[in-house]
This record gives sequence, C-alpha cells and structure tokens, in this order.
Amino acid sequence: MKQTVLAGIRATSKLHIGNYLGAVKGMLELEKSGEYETFFMVADIHAITTPFDPEGLRKNKYEVVIDYLACGLDPEKSVIFLQSMVGEHAEFAFYLSSLVTIARMQHLPTFKEKVKQYPESTSLALLNYPTLMASDILLYNASKVPVGIDQEPHLEIAREIARKLNSTYSLAFNEATRFATEGQYVPSLTGEGKMSKSVEGSAIMLTDDFETIKNKLFAVPTDSGKGEGVPISGGVKTLLELTTLFLGVEKRKEYELMYLSDGIKYKQMKEELAEEVYKVLIPIQEKRRYFENNPQIVVEVINYGKNKAQKVASENLAKVKFAMGL
Ligand code: AMP
Repeated sequence: MKQTVLAGIRATSKLHIGNYLGAVKGMLELEKSGEYETFFMVADIHAITTPFDPEGLRKNKYEVVIDYLACGLDPEKSVIFLQSMVGEHAEFAFYLSSLVTIARMQHLPTFKEKVKQYPESTSLALLNYPTLMASDILLYNASKVPVGIDQEPHLEIAREIARKLNSTYSLAFNEATRFATEGQYVPSLTGEGKMSKSVEGSAIMLTDDFETIKNKLFAVPTDSGKGEGVPISGGVKTLLELTTLFLGVEKRKEYELMYLSDGIKYKQMKEELAEEVYKVLIPIQEKRRYFENNPQIVVEVINYGKNKAQKVASENLAKVKFAMGL
C-alpha cells in the first residue's frame, strides 16, 4: 500500500508565488514521484475562519482549482477536491476537538498573529483551525504534507492529535511530517514578514503580467545598495531571497559581493528578477487560460475528486467513530 500525501490551500484568493514555491512545487514533486497516493484539496472551510464574503468564496474555490491545474497538478494522478464537498472533514474536526485543550490552541503563534490581524473577529472557528487541519490530514492518514514553514506549528498539533487518538482509542494513525521545498518561506515584497494574500503590496500573483511584476518589484523598499554587512531583513533581503529562488544561489552570492564592494544597482537587479519570475509564470498563465475557457473540465475534476476523496475519508472516519463508541 502506498503512503498518502495531503495538502490544501485556503480559498481566499488566486495563488501567489509564495503558495507556488512553498506548497504547490512540493505537491508537484510528490505527485511526480509516483510513490504516494496524493490528495490535494481546496481548503474552503478553512477560508471561513477569518472574515470572508460568500460571493468571493464561491469564486475563489474555483480559482484555486484552476491554479492547481495550471501549475501542472494532474487530476488523473492526484485527487483534487473541495474540502466542503466532503462533509467528513468538518465532522471529524469536531470529534478531534475533544482531544485538544483551548489553552494549547490559544498559545499557537499562528493564532496570536491572526488575532492581531483581526482583533474584532476572533471566532471559535479560528481557534479550531489546526483541529480542522488535523482532520484533513488524518482522514487520509497522510504521512507527508507539502506546505510552507508557517504551517509547522499546525503540523505539530496534527501529530499530537494522532498520538492521542492512537493511545486513547488503540488506533494507528501516522504522525505526518512536512515536505519542505526550497521556497518554504517566501518573504513579502513589503520587506516585512512572509508573502501573503492578505497584506497589500506583499505578493506577486501567478496571474500577474510582466508590467505588474516589474512595478511590484520596483516598489520593494531598498537602500543605497552598499554597506558593511549584507541586510538580514527588509526589502533588500526579500530581493536576495527571490534571486536565490529564481536565478540561483550563485547569482545571489554575486549580489552579496556587490553589496559589500561597488554596490548593487537595484534597477538592473529588479528588471532581471522580473524577467525570470515572468518566465516561470508564462506557461502557468497559458495553461490557466485553457481551464478558464473550459470551465466544464474544472467542474468534472472537482466532482471526480469529491467521490474519490469521500470514499477514503468515510472509511477512515467510520473506524474512528466505532473506536470512540459513536
Ligand atoms: P494559505 O494561503 O495560508 O492557505 O497557504 C497555502 C499554502 O501556501 C500553505 O502550504 C502555506 O504554507 C504556503 N505559503 C503561503 N505563503 C507562503 C510563503 N510566503 N512562502 C512559502 N509558502 C507559503
């Protein structure tokens, strides 16, 4: 029996290059390896843990499926589905919530960040975000989860829950580990924190055209271009990280040396970077147009995926319910 992989992306908008490098590239690698049963969902239930509007959600869940397909995920190799279409996810999350304490959830750094971001909308659903993620992972008994480094605290919760389920109810769930990519942490164009959908001016979207990418990169804050030590934070650090990811580590070293000697010419650096980023996005955008023009294929993928996911999820959930005495 092959081991299983599960990953998901919230249906909060189209994807950005942080999602692509930190999550989708790992999904592609594991799918291509042929060694795993791969389940890739659109986390639309997770999207309601922070403020949302139903019209946006209705649209965004399809946008994320289109992005998955445009990036090259193959519905014949992977099960691609919408989380909310498989009711077992929400049901299992409720059962799992009996195994974690409120205090454990309140102390998670990811929860605290979101509370800061949305002080007026700290819902129970937000507190329960990691339980829902544990449900996603455990319903398929996944052993690998291709997600960015920001998700590590949630994976730790999933492992804790798996251990508790196993010891309390004599079950045999895997303790899933994160499958990391080179781009596991793509910094924000603002120079502060990670690239994020919800922070204005932070992200390059997979759908951005060359001019937009260039303009966004030109807006990254920089300095005089030279100094005693290479910056370890801020916009310059972001540009150096993006250079590693799109032009390679040797190019980054060249820039670092320039910074310590004659100085970096940011205009040139940003133009070169924009070209390389766009080169990666061109084939994705071409494929995206195909799926945008053929929405019936997207619907077919989702319906096919739903049936396959639900078969596995319902079997696993039945075992847990029986073990719990439900
Ligand atoms: P989210 O949009 O928060 O649902 O994230 C979807 C996936 O993209 C998760 O696996 C995240 O870890 C990953 N991700 C989001 N932002 C970044 C980033 N800036 N760098 C690397 N991975 C990211």
